[in-house]
Amino acid sequence: MADDFFQPVSGMDLPRFAGIATFMRLPHLPDDHSRAGDVAIGLIGLPWDGGTSNRPGARHAPRALRDASTMIRARHPVTGMRPFATVNCADLGDIGPNPVDAADTLARIETRIATLAGRGVRPLSVGGDHLCTLPVLRGLARARPLGLVLFDSHTDLFPAYFGGATLTHGNPFRAAVDEGLLDPARMVMIGIRGTMYDRADRDFAEAHGIRIITIEEFFARGIADVMAEAREVVGTGPAYLSYDIDFVDPSVAPGTGTPEWGGPDAFQAMGVIRECAGLNIVAADLVEVSPPFDPSGGTAWLGASLLFEILCVMAAALAPTAPGQGLR
Ligand code: MN
Ligand code: MN
Repeated sequence: MADDFFQPVSGMDLPRFAGIATFMRLPHLPDDHSRAGDVAIGLIGLPWDGGTSNRPGARHAPRALRDASTMIRARHPVTGMRPFATVNCADLGDIGPNPVDAADTLARIETRIATLAGRGVRPLSVGGDHLCTLPVLRGLARARPLGLVLFDSHTDLFPAYFGGATLTHGNPFRAAVDEGLLDPARMVMIGIRGTMYDRADRDFAEAHGIRIITIEEFFARGIADVMAEAREVVGTGPAYLSYDIDFVDPSVAPGTGTPEWGGPDAFQAMGVIRECAGLNIVAADLVEVSPPFDPSGGTAWLGASLLFEILCVMAAALAPTAPGQGLR
């Protein structure tokens, strides 16, 4: 059970447009806060888009998502999960990046995540572009590889860009496999689509036994069937959930750098996360929301709802008897 200190500010007490915006109106806890050791799930901003190969802007997402997430209430409408009542959740602030030095930024993210993990905090990080996921995995999984559920229109398994050994948001999962941070046999990538450079990413996946579910297969089989297979692939061991907002169709989530047409609608985008109930999700992220391409704010608002869905799955993994576990 969570304690009173970790309760979000209710819209019944203070209007949602008032006060200082934190993720879901949770208390903000810097690392030196006296209650920092009591956090079970920490929402943390990664305001960095230095891995972006084309249209930047995701560095602005943590601030936009804090604002949008003031709309989130306490109870999941379908499963009944009340994450803030179930486990201690907090906004841990941002990991300050170096906007002109990628290696420095990756090191900063890894160090802070490793510190949090050492304290038993399960991070729900808010990017930033998808390269942010790599240092998070480095901070979490040096000792043992994790499984992965990825929702994305891209595999992010591409070889190095621009002729060097360059890390970008197009290859974090290739690097993570090469570094032994993810177990390829427990990886599933869902929603893959869009024009391709070549088949280098697919060849890598096949060589390592990574399961790719294209958007064509996703819609032909339906969410329940695809996600049943995803749970089987990932199994019961510790797993990471990574959600790239470009998984969602750009008609509803245009605020992202690399949109691809022909994706899920908002209802489906939330539904796939509910189907992750039962997995042991020990950390997760939402990446690639890009506020400069989101003039209506609608992408950030969907992103905030996705964060709540993810938080509910993470809370259920920590509290198997709470409402929200096994309800699909
Ligand atoms: Mn991605
Ligand atoms: Mn993508």
